[in-house]
Amino acid sequence: MVILHRKLSLNMYKTPFNAITLIFIFILTALFYYIYTIDNSNANYTSNDDKIVILKLLDKDLDNFLLHNANFTNYDDINRKYETFEHILHELKNDLNTDMMHKGMRDTFATIIQNFQNKREDIEHFKSLNASLLNNVHFLYDLQASIADEPMISEEIINDIDKILFFILQYSTSSYIDKSSILKYLDSLNIHANKSSSELLPTFYQQAKLMLCTLSSLKKISATIHTHQLYASLQELHTSLHSIYEQNLHIQKSIALFFFVSAILILISLLIMQYYAHKRQKELQAFKYAMQHSDNTVVITDPDRHITFVNEAFEKSSGYSATEAMGENPSILKSGEQEASYYEAMNEKLDDGEKWEGQFINKRKDGSLYYEKASIVPVFLNDKLINYLAIKLDITEFVEQNLKLAQAATVFDNTEEAIVISNAHNDIISVNRAFMSMYGYEEDEIMGKKLTFLHSGKQGKLFYQKMWAQINSEDQWRGKLINVTKTGEQIPVWMSIKVIRDKKGAINSYTAVQTDLRELESSQARVEFLAYHDDLTGLSNRINFEDHLNHAIKVATRIKEQLALFFIDLDRFKVINDTLGHDVGDTLLTTIASRLQSTLRESDLISRWGGDEFAVILEEFGKQSDLALVANNILDQLKLPIQIDDHLLNITASIGIAIFPEDGKNSNTLMKHADSAMYLAKDSGKNNFQYYTDELSKKSKKKLDIDMAMQDALTNGEFYLHFQPQYDLSTKIIKGVEALIRWNNPKLGFIPPNEFIPIAEDTGRIISIGYFVFEEACKAFSKMKAKIQTLDTLSVNVSSIQFREEHLFDTFVAIANRYQIPSYQIEIEITERFIMEQTDKNVTLLHNFRNHGFLISIDDFGTGYSSMSYLKKLPIDIIKIDKSFIDDITDDHADFEVTQAIIALSKKLNYKIIAEGIELQVQEDILNNEGCDLGQGYLFSRPVNYEEIIKNYS
Ligand code: C2E
Ligand code: MG
Ligand code: MG
Repeated sequence: MVILHRKLSLNMYKTPFNAITLIFIFILTALFYYIYTIDNSNANYTSNDDKIVILKLLDKDLDNFLLHNANFTNYDDINRKYETFEHILHELKNDLNTDMMHKGMRDTFATIIQNFQNKREDIEHFKSLNASLLNNVHFLYDLQASIADEPMISEEIINDIDKILFFILQYSTSSYIDKSSILKYLDSLNIHANKSSSELLPTFYQQAKLMLCTLSSLKKISATIHTHQLYASLQELHTSLHSIYEQNLHIQKSIALFFFVSAILILISLLIMQYYAHKRQKELQAFKYAMQHSDNTVVITDPDRHITFVNEAFEKSSGYSATEAMGENPSILKSGEQEASYYEAMNEKLDDGEKWEGQFINKRKDGSLYYEKASIVPVFLNDKLINYLAIKLDITEFVEQNLKLAQAATVFDNTEEAIVISNAHNDIISVNRAFMSMYGYEEDEIMGKKLTFLHSGKQGKLFYQKMWAQINSEDQWRGKLINVTKTGEQIPVWMSIKVIRDKKGAINSYTAVQTDLRELESSQARVEFLAYHDDLTGLSNRINFEDHLNHAIKVATRIKEQLALFFIDLDRFKVINDTLGHDVGDTLLTTIASRLQSTLRESDLISRWGGDEFAVILEEFGKQSDLALVANNILDQLKLPIQIDDHLLNITASIGIAIFPEDGKNSNTLMKHADSAMYLAKDSGKNNFQYYTDELSKKSKKKLDIDMAMQDALTNGEFYLHFQPQYDLSTKIIKGVEALIRWNNPKLGFIPPNEFIPIAEDTGRIISIGYFVFEEACKAFSKMKAKIQTLDTLSVNVSSIQFREEHLFDTFVAIANRYQIPSYQIEIEITERFIMEQTDKNVTLLHNFRNHGFLISIDDFGTGYSSMSYLKKLPIDIIKIDKSFIDDITDDHADFEVTQAIIALSKKLNYKIIAEGIELQVQEDILNNEGCDLGQGYLFSRPVNYEEIIKNYS
């Protein structure tokens, strides 16, 4: 707006500038012209002045002429002078224009002319007198000569005559000769003349008298001429002319001075105007530059709202170039984000000639939105609308910043961290809600205060000194401290202080974010405890135990002492846990834990290793026999019955013992060896302890060898199958076969499945081996079936590990289909261990098999303490009574009874029963009597290859 105004003002200045320049030129021309005329009139004056001077000189000349009486007079010269006089006078009269001649002058002119005429007449008279005088003189001289020659005339008379002549001549030339004295001489002469006879003397007398008379007349005329005031009138004219000239000159000088001063003034005005014009020009250029490069967007439109000007800022913020925008309507920027009514209100105001201020949400050329604060003014020149000028500021960043600030303010107020902001003098200027609730203060209680009211006294002066030293040097500090609330409660907080500096680097404020550590600390303490302790029993966990063991080994090495590692595994725990529920299991484990703690010394570290396994480190023991005492003690304590709810539980444990440094120099070896010893105890009938021996080590080594050898066994075709018939006990007819794997390794020889299957299970190789067995078994069985009519079923042992393989079911189904064996002819043998390790996934898979028609058989039943009631929940078709029962069925009444009970219960639950390991006829008989359906054992047939089966039973 200002810029436009200036532009207009400059235009307005231009017009008078031109006018004044014209006036200046006019005045200057006039001045020059005037000076020219002055010069002319000056020349006229000089010429006229000269003329008057000449006239005056001529007058003088004429006067001089009158002095020449009795002299020769050049009459031509006098005439010329007359003419000159008259001519000049005429010229002068013409020159002096009538306007200039005032009356006085005109009178003077008339006087001059009159005086001249009078003078001329007198001179003419003089001329004639002078001429006669000259004649008289000549005549007198002639007479004198004649007289002198006359002898009759006395000398005296001659002398008188000479005197008379002399005096007359003197008289004619000067005035001091007295005429009366001459007359006296003449009278005396006359007397002589009258006496003389000569005629000469009377003639001389008369002539002399005549001459005297003429001379008197001449003198009179001369005197009269001098009375003619020609010179005086000329002088008067001269004076008048001079005074007129002087007057005119004065006026001319004044006028010239006026012109000159005016010209100077105008020139000064022009220079001033030029100066201001130049200044404005520069200002305008500066404004133009400022407008062009302003940070504000400037848009000028014509009254029809077509863009006529945009600046760089417009190009930058809108993305349109100036050329693109030219002639367009500013509505090209409309984003559609604002109501039409908004623009209508704006246009209404502008149409009324008023300024409009507001905000736009505009759209850039690339389609992105931006915000502008705008001010639009209609620009009028001489009451005519000439432009609309829009000055806009891109406030996108500001709007976004505000949005962010609003978000930050929400975060500030809603965050769980207490935030306090203080100024550079450390006076609180802002706190959030969390701060107030953490410390129990109201906002107005703490505003302007220093944060020292939070000091609990738990941190000393040095603490705060160090804290401030860090804040000052690093602009931040983080740390834990104890603060005090309004109620006096001391709370641990984690405080993070940051210094906020302004652009110049001066401290603006401090922000302190505080986290209440009360909850965190208690949970952290718990986390820390749990990190090193077993959640259920509170005993050390495996990590803590290993750390402790490593440390104990270091100490024992240093002091050259022994230490013992006990590995304790509960027998039958899994069954209790699975059958009676996890709550019972958990209570049982806590009871065991506390029994172990009460049995052992406080210095002995007891750890729950996982599940039902415990480990103990015994430091500083005397003899190895002491360890046996401790082990027995543990066993005794553990086997005491435990009452949990309605259940009276008996539990035993198997303990493995490894001793440092004999059985291992590091924690890993020690633990591995203690574990081996524990398994030895399990193998040795459980409820006992075993020391680690080299024998165990050898076993471990063999395990490694087997594992190595097994790597390529499948690809090398080292595995093959044997089949053991299952027969009807009453008819002795073959009913089924159980597929049993065999492995003959070129290096290790024949390895029984009991040895390599657990290793294959550990390494996961059992999965591929399992598929091989199932495939081979199906292949053989399909052929056997064709030849042995009575053959109904194929039993295949499936490890629990195989159940973890997600394609097991699909693959088995596919294989069975391939060999066209209906699924109801296939028995999947799973061990009791599988039952005990059952997971939801395993059970689901078991159901899948069952639902597809496969038969499920529990192998080695009776060894895993599975309770029959629990089995009810599983999809089971066949129970295989373990060989260990059959072995002692004849001698051990308990085993007989168990077998009897299993058979009876199975019948009740509709399970088919098969007894395995029948080696004796008596065993077969008993089982047959008890109603056992099927049998399997060396008595009937050892496991044999496919050919033998065909040979024996087809
Ligand atoms: P199992 O499933 O209980 O198999 C019966 C075992 O008892 C076989 O031992 C068999 O030879 C043996 N046996 C049968 N009748 C008598 C007898 O009258 N007297 C004696 N002393 N033993 C008899 P084998 O073949 O050594 O298998 C041992 C175990 O290895 C099997 O016990 C089974 O658990 C496992 N096994 C064998 N083959 C496989 C297999 O392909 N896969 C899986 N996962 N395990 C298998
Ligand atoms: Mg079996
Ligand atoms: Mg078995």
